[in-house]
Amino acid sequence: MCGIVAYIGHREAYPIIVKGLKRLEYRGYDSAGVALLTPDKALNIYKKSGKVSDLEAETADKDVHANTGMGHTRWATHGAPNDKNAHPHLSQNGEFAIIHNGIIENYSTLKQALIKRGHEFKSDTDTEVLIHLIEEVFKNNSVSFEEAVRMALTQVVGAYAIVILSKSDPTYLIGARKGSPMVVGIGENEHFIASDATPIVEYTRNVIYLNDGELVIIDNNKLTVKTIDNTIKSPYIQELEINLESIEKGGFDHFMMKEIYEQPRSILDSFRGRTHVNDATIAMAGIDKFEDKLKNIKRLLIVGCGTSWHAGLVGEYLFEDFARIPTEVEYASEFRYRNPVIDENDFVIAISQSGETADTLAALELAKSKGATIFGVCNVVGSSIPRITDAGAYTHAGPEIGVASTKAFTAQVTALILMSLSVAQKRGTISKERLRELLIELETIPSKVEEALKLNDMIKEIAAEFKDSRNALYLGRGYGFPIALEGALKLKEISYIHAEGYPAAEMKHGPIALIDEEMPVVVIATQHSNYEKVISNIQEVRARKGRVIAISTIGDEHIKDHADYVIPIPQCEEAMLPLIASIPLQLLSYHIAVMRECNVDQPRNLAKSVTVE
Ligand code: GLU
Repeated sequence: MCGIVAYIGHREAYPIIVKGLKRLEYRGYDSAGVALLTPDKALNIYKKSGKVSDLEAETADKDVHANTGMGHTRWATHGAPNDKNAHPHLSQNGEFAIIHNGIIENYSTLKQALIKRGHEFKSDTDTEVLIHLIEEVFKNNSVSFEEAVRMALTQVVGAYAIVILSKSDPTYLIGARKGSPMVVGIGENEHFIASDATPIVEYTRNVIYLNDGELVIIDNNKLTVKTIDNTIKSPYIQELEINLESIEKGGFDHFMMKEIYEQPRSILDSFRGRTHVNDATIAMAGIDKFEDKLKNIKRLLIVGCGTSWHAGLVGEYLFEDFARIPTEVEYASEFRYRNPVIDENDFVIAISQSGETADTLAALELAKSKGATIFGVCNVVGSSIPRITDAGAYTHAGPEIGVASTKAFTAQVTALILMSLSVAQKRGTISKERLRELLIELETIPSKVEEALKLNDMIKEIAAEFKDSRNALYLGRGYGFPIALEGALKLKEISYIHAEGYPAAEMKHGPIALIDEEMPVVVIATQHSNYEKVISNIQEVRARKGRVIAISTIGDEHIKDHADYVIPIPQCEEAMLPLIASIPLQLLSYHIAVMRECNVDQPRNLAKSVTVE
């Protein structure tokens, strides 16, 4: 789950690599390193635990001139995050260098065998074993470097995206992937390899997304793609759609804040072109393709992790409400190891911002192997999940860099609203009038989100009151419940305050014991179906001296009698509440985290794209 950038061409490699690593730092950031290979075959490796900026400080007085090089930001799986375990790693004779994203699962067996053959290891990583293995294969089989890499990979169990260079050939670079993403950029007499397209977009728009089990070989500016079992492939070159501005901070202090403020647009982009209010229809090719099956479907499964699981829970309510399909939402990591009952009549929807989440990918593969039809709701175009699914919907939220997901969540919910309505229409469980009403309402959501964003100053003041809390409780019912879960997760992730989301009525069965005058209790108390019930739950909190922050509906004067703080958001259809009520909770977590001087965009121990199980 790290970031990889490599360059080979006519420019200075180091600045390209460092800039690219900064863009990829969201993927992992406990150490960083570079390998730089000069035309006269000097190989310089610099690596440092900490951020890319620590690596820059380390290299400030070093020779970084080279036209070939590669860099890595690590998210440690094997061995502590320290200097010696940072990548790149060298082979025993120092000839080959590697950077690696993923896990070599059989590294221990390979390592024992290599030790018997006299290999000595400098790090505790699984990665170093692989580069020693390549050297061993190279020596024993008198094959080319490229062939040694390919042959060694046939012995590897696990997941990887790797780049390897050979000291004696500065015009040569090899990449390979299995289970971890890899993009190759093709410029004028130059090539780039990276974990995603963000380090590349500035230099070229022509890219190849490498498939699982493929190697890319760049030899004297000539590119070849082949499979690990040695079949030459003709690479599919596509044009990148992201632009550079969308991956910079755009005047905000943090990516997270920028992304919170992008939501009116990202929600709009997620439904634009898909809704037709006049004839009350929804254009979603993926859903249309399975119309017959969806008409008779008996059950729907949704799988995801973290925030995507919360979006999935909203999805469960939506599909049951509108399409009348019994729906279950599952943690992908549990589902995949639980021997679930699933067959060819089932539909499985996987939700993942990155499209690379390892557990979600594995859950989908399991469902696919049992014959289920699989759908994806992903943000990153060309990522692994969309590539294995039968159909799906991209969320069009644009690149999300902040580790705590914000705009990707609301975009996922928007896609699920459209999918559930489209399925409902096909199954005849919604009238044309009602569908039109909902589509008209959806069109108003971006401006309502805009309104909700105007609450920022007020929320900042509330944040100042609660910044030193040690615990927090988030309560909601119906569509308010997934929002409560997501609100609590946001606070935990970025401010390190322990927070729990609960169905408001369930509070009596446990968490109520925690409530005292110190405890902030955030309640989704908008004027929807459970309003009166939620007010009763607020009373229960107040009776125990809890301090209530209510997310209410604009114009609700009554709520002021019950809550200590009231955050009024625009009235909306209940099913669309998650799109609006999430905004103040994102802002609340953001401000509390900033006031606690936490690293908002890169919270400790987390990484953006969880490509390990
Ligand atoms: N397993 C490797 C390590 O621990 C790579 C981890 C990563 O993807 O950053 O060094």
